[in-house]
Amino acid sequence: MLRLRLNFLLTPLLTLSLVACQTSPTGRHQIIMISDAEMSQLGAASFSQMKSSNPPIEDSKLTIYVECLSRPLLLAAGENPSEWEVKVFKDATPNAFALPGKKIGVHTGMIGLTSNSGQLAAVIGHEIAHVQAKHGAERVSLNMASQAVQQATAIAVNGKEYSSAAMAAVGLGAQYGVILPYSRTHESEADFIGLKIMAKAGFDPEQAVSLWQTMGKSGGSKPPEFLSTHPASSTRIKQLSAAMLEAKKLQRTNVTSKVSCIKP
Ligand SMILES: [Zn+2]
Repeated sequence: MLRLRLNFLLTPLLTLSLVACQTSPTGRHQIIMISDAEMSQLGAASFSQMKSSNPPIEDSKLTIYVECLSRPLLLAAGENPSEWEVKVFKDATPNAFALPGKKIGVHTGMIGLTSNSGQLAAVIGHEIAHVQAKHGAERVSLNMASQAVQQATAIAVNGKEYSSAAMAAVGLGAQYGVILPYSRTHESEADFIGLKIMAKAGFDPEQAVSLWQTMGKSGGSKPPEFLSTHPASSTRIKQLSAAMLEAKKLQRTNVTSKVSCIKP
């Protein structure tokens, strides 16, 4: 039994020491214990599951609109749009996501919440950035490592009366001490990369700022689901504004034709 537990503990730690530190597109060091191929499989499997539980809208004006926006964004991000699957889901929850395995999903609720194509481009650009910067892989790796720490604590305090309290503390520590600040790092990084992607694709980067202002206003008593993982904080708006000059320059130098995707 103990041997089994130790194996469980050692596997991620061993992998941790074997997998080299990687670097994100902004030059941040990352610890990744899962391969791109495994992440793509996970992403594709979740996307299939979503599609079977809520079949996406096909051949509608909304699909054409989201494809129209995604194409220049993917090109600007250095991706091949024909390799990506882009779907619109009938769901009033304002949400959008991109998954490893080249998948993009946009809820009708998010199309409704964003007031123009630039704002939705900011959302999709931000989501593509999460995938390109391998944030999902980092989170999976962090979970593997924090599970290993919890397992170690369980072994260390096993049988002692404070074991459950100690386990709870480690659990909370993993969630609030590491994972949340980490995700704030991910959000800032996705904002920065996403802003460059949308500008390079020909969208007005200022729309990223107005997106978060729109999001902030839509809070009320029941804020959109997207806001629980993407708080529209003043820090977020300040950071975007600080990167605006560079983004505008990118927009001017890279645009050959103005993107016109009209919101239906
Ligand atoms: Zn995000």
